[in-house]
Amino acid sequence: MKKFNSYSLLKYCLAVLFIVAIFSQDISAQTQKITAEQESARSIFKELIEINTTHAAGNTTTSAKAILKRLTDAGFAQKDIQIIGPQEKNQNIVVRIHGSGKAKPILFLAHLDVVEALRKDWSLDPFQFTERDGFFYGRGTMDIKDGAAILIANFIRLKKENFIPERDLILALTAGEEGGADYNGIEWLLKNHRDLIDAEFCINMDAGDPQIKNGKRINRTVQASEKAVLNLSLEVKNAGGHSSLPSKDNAINNLAEGLAKLKHYDFPVQINEVTRTYFGKMAALESGQLSADMKAVSENPSDTAAIFRLSTSPYYNALMRTTCITTMIEGGHAINALPQSAKATINCRVMPGAKQVDIQNALTQVLADNQIVVTALGNLLDNPDSPLKPELMQKVESVTKKLWPGVMVLPVMEVGATDGIYLRGAGIPTYGISGVFIDVDDNRAHGKDERIGVKDFYDGLEYEYNLIKIFSAAK
Ligand SMILES: [Zn+2]
Repeated sequence: MKKFNSYSLLKYCLAVLFIVAIFSQDISAQTQKITAEQESARSIFKELIEINTTHAAGNTTTSAKAILKRLTDAGFAQKDIQIIGPQEKNQNIVVRIHGSGKAKPILFLAHLDVVEALRKDWSLDPFQFTERDGFFYGRGTMDIKDGAAILIANFIRLKKENFIPERDLILALTAGEEGGADYNGIEWLLKNHRDLIDAEFCINMDAGDPQIKNGKRINRTVQASEKAVLNLSLEVKNAGGHSSLPSKDNAINNLAEGLAKLKHYDFPVQINEVTRTYFGKMAALESGQLSADMKAVSENPSDTAAIFRLSTSPYYNALMRTTCITTMIEGGHAINALPQSAKATINCRVMPGAKQVDIQNALTQVLADNQIVVTALGNLLDNPDSPLKPELMQKVESVTKKLWPGVMVLPVMEVGATDGIYLRGAGIPTYGISGVFIDVDDNRAHGKDERIGVKDFYDGLEYEYNLIKIFSAAK
């Protein structure tokens, strides 16, 4: 044991006092920061993260039941909460706050299931909620249990405040968006219980993130449009034979020639209301040639030079046109036999409003080879854009200005896919308006050590509270 003389003892005591002072300051700073609403949302968030809702090991029904308990504890009537779905393990939960009926309801949406996460791939346990260095870690923190927790916490807050909206507010937390169930929750609800979720429009937490770039909060995206998916099979069949007697007519080579033609084909440019607005607003954020090209495309979608330059970016290209790309290939059956079959799978991301028959006809024309048989694997969903109604966009602008001054509201088209597609197809315009800022250069959704900022979560909680309230007014 180390001995102290009186001087070093004094130094030691001062050091201890200093450390205690620092820690108590830190703790009081933390407790000061957390409001009752934040504490409630954090506790819901933690509970959701720690209930595994992957396809392999988890289920959303446990999650739905935990939410039900919180809602009934907060005063929601049992009759206003439905736990429902075709699979016992993977059910959805739908909750309603009754309004005065001045306008049609609004639906708020997030999914409960998450993508698989293996403990061995992560630095932390993905199913343990961890707060560290200003971040919340866990599978689903970014996609999209943060949004689910924010909606639940705000519905509870509104209930406790005895808030009577001018229209019903519906909350649907669903299964199967990430493949966590063998069906899609919102698709099933639309088909089987539309009355439960029917709404004038939907706000989806799973799209339209506010964005951070280089440490700065730059824009609040509103996802008002998304591309639809069409998968196609391209197949060439051949009589085959011994590989020592080849002919020019070869299934693999014929297919390869067709794929090479597709590589050089670009679908025509289609600019819609959402992408036109997007490019127009982004032009102000960018500079130089890129800014000029964005402005040109927003003003004149037939400016071919600007389109050509923008198309060199996979993202801007995907925003402007339907894309079809080879994702899988198989062919042949033996090392010493002529192939009897060669097959490729083509994944198309189709612009809203485009027709399946037109896509297939365009590809058939490009292939120009009747040996290549094009077959659709499933059908293209009807997927109109959601209109950028001025009164709706003004409400988003006003909440954004109030809470995040200087952050630009930016309508976007999703080049991937979300549950919004089912709702838009069913005639319910859908807007992705998540409240949680994400760093565009640190997007860990579906990946390792998924996380969101603690402050970003609490700010999102307040943002959505304001948004729900402003949208709940009939006008
Ligand atoms: Zn998601």
